[in-house]
Amino acid sequence: MVNSHGHLDHACGNYQFSEEIYIHPDDIKLCRGSNARDNRLRSIEHAKHTADYATGEEHNILPEGFDEAAYAAGGCGNLVPVTEGHVFDLGGITLRVAELPGHTKGSIGLLYEEERMLYAGDALNGFLWLFLPESLDLATYTATIKKAQGIDFDWLVMSHNPVIAEKAVLDDFLDCATHVDYEHGIPYEGPIPGISARICMRPGYRGMEDMAKPGFASIVISEEHL
Ligand SMILES: [Zn+2]
Repeated sequence: MVNSHGHLDHACGNYQFSEEIYIHPDDIKLCRGSNARDNRLRSIEHAKHTADYATGEEHNILPEGFDEAAYAAGGCGNLVPVTEGHVFDLGGITLRVAELPGHTKGSIGLLYEEERMLYAGDALNGFLWLFLPESLDLATYTATIKKAQGIDFDWLVMSHNPVIAEKAVLDDFLDCATHVDYEHGIPYEGPIPGISARICMRPGYRGMEDMAKPGFASIVISEEHL
């Protein structure tokens, strides 16, 4: 088990394994906080009242028989630190750790060398969250994109996105990062009350209706992360 970073939606299943769970040391504290009981209870409530995008109607998306008490008490498992260059040799599957800070300080990717794929978690994508208190600044994220461009791979696997992208998508992300226009960004209602963020889209893209267009890229950022 390797956590790409410490957020609950990426680490909430840790408790189901007794094995060691690898995570970057800079995200261990975040992982503990994110997996705390109150946060888990909030996520259960959220799952029970998940609004349908089209109709706005709320649904309970918890699977039947879901053990809420076990989930709420789950914690974050047996965390073991892992850093840049560590290699997981699974026998014909070689996974090399690459630090990809920005979304969080301890975000990491795994380079699957045989398949020439980089698994990037939330660290690289076309709707990059950079507004959270635990996020680093735009310069750090920009450096992470450039670092990824220098890694030898062909395919980028991102979370929250079923599409496996060609590496060239990083050029779109970099174009977006180097042209962030906060003034003209679209206000974004994030999950944390009191944090104001804006969606800053790549030049030539105007609104969320452009999201499905080829080459779309955006960064959701708050003023203090510019
Ligand atoms: Zn995340």
